[in-house]
Amino acid sequence: MSYPFASKIDSLKFDSLVESLKEIGRNLLDPRTGENTKYEMQDAVLSAFSLFFTQSPSFLAHQRDMQRDKGKNNANSLFGVFKLPSDQQIKNLLDPIKPTVFYSIFESTFHLLNAVGALDNYRTPQGKLLIALDGVYYFSSQKISCEQCRTQKHKNDTVTYSHAILAAVLVGVNQPVVFPQSPEFLAQQDGHDKQDSEIAAAKRWLESHASFCRDNKIILLGDDIFCHQPLCELLIEARVEFLFVCKPDSHKTLYEWVEGLETIGGVEHLSVEMWNGKDHEISEYRIAKQVPLRDGDDALLVNFFECTIRRKKDHKILYQNAFATQMDVGIETVAGYTEQGRTRWKIENENNNTLKNQGYHFEHNFGHGSQYLSMTLLILNLLAFLFHSVLSLMDANYQLVRNALGTRETFFDDIRALTRYLYFDSFQALLTFMAERLELIPIQQIRLGSQARL
Ligand SMILES: [Zn+2]
Repeated sequence: MSYPFASKIDSLKFDSLVESLKEIGRNLLDPRTGENTKYEMQDAVLSAFSLFFTQSPSFLAHQRDMQRDKGKNNANSLFGVFKLPSDQQIKNLLDPIKPTVFYSIFESTFHLLNAVGALDNYRTPQGKLLIALDGVYYFSSQKISCEQCRTQKHKNDTVTYSHAILAAVLVGVNQPVVFPQSPEFLAQQDGHDKQDSEIAAAKRWLESHASFCRDNKIILLGDDIFCHQPLCELLIEARVEFLFVCKPDSHKTLYEWVEGLETIGGVEHLSVEMWNGKDHEISEYRIAKQVPLRDGDDALLVNFFECTIRRKKDHKILYQNAFATQMDVGIETVAGYTEQGRTRWKIENENNNTLKNQGYHFEHNFGHGSQYLSMTLLILNLLAFLFHSVLSLMDANYQLVRNALGTRETFFDDIRALTRYLYFDSFQALLTFMAERLELIPIQQIRLGSQARL
């Protein structure tokens, strides 16, 4: 008898997630020989990944010490590293590997999460899912560079080298956990204008993700930079829905139309009073349909809505934002769409801090590389973040320990210290050890059937 649902849940456990990475590593060819030599490529991938997953730049150094002292190590037992490579070997092996070889893991993980119902709470009342797009600069230097670096020449002849991505992150209203999807790197040839670069990257991202977005009923969220006619036209052509911030400064014509419609009664209004636990708030919505996104006869017509939240007692504005979309917005749906549009801040809070603050001190282990190393490490970092997100939804002991330790910092501090001094047979053994020492009752992972939903 087979249990397809249970096997999908098992595929979202730590060992299976790492196995997906292992499999890709195993099939990579050694750039030096053009052959697949033993486990070297796999070990290089898993070793680099282990630093990001444990958030410990010293993890491999500690495991080499442990191997010498105890004849065994956690890089092997937790991550399946067969033989620990040196940092220099990892750099040499990974530098020629294109980051895109790992992208299939983002999609397969999405499909597994979707299949077991883990994304049900992420769906909007219309059954759609939200992916927020945002450009993030994650590396900048005047000294260090590689072939893939973006370069910006300054007047005084100095050059700034940088890397940036268009991050794509699955978010949900009132859902603290977010799931990074495969991103798009901002290319070197895009020039130096941030807006051009992000839009060009968004167009490339759309090319590779349009059918994924359609099939999975994705609404794309983004800030005002994306609320730009050429991109919106492409999205409409690709039948991909969007909900972009639309600011007055960059959309003067649109706002003039809204005010013009206002004078002839062509704008719908809704006012809702709510108690937020402290004060009475009044949310005022305006909806204007089929207004031009820009000046000119060829302007794209979009639906526009605006939300202003005021405190009742003194009229202080607590929140104000406006959005453009091709979806049909009405009095019944405007509050929901506003809430969905607002969730895009999660990408800044959750995802971008991870990229900016927790990634790049790892470069001191391997250097920046001359080909793809910097980008490939970024992707392994994103995958580590994704796996933590998955475990926080799907692994009961992980949830227990994470909740008991409170902050993310404490959780990673403990993992760093424990894996330095103690040997664990598996990641589950590490979590069980932590749960027991915290006097929590470790949960026997239920393996079969729908009860395994956590
Ligand atoms: Zn570079």
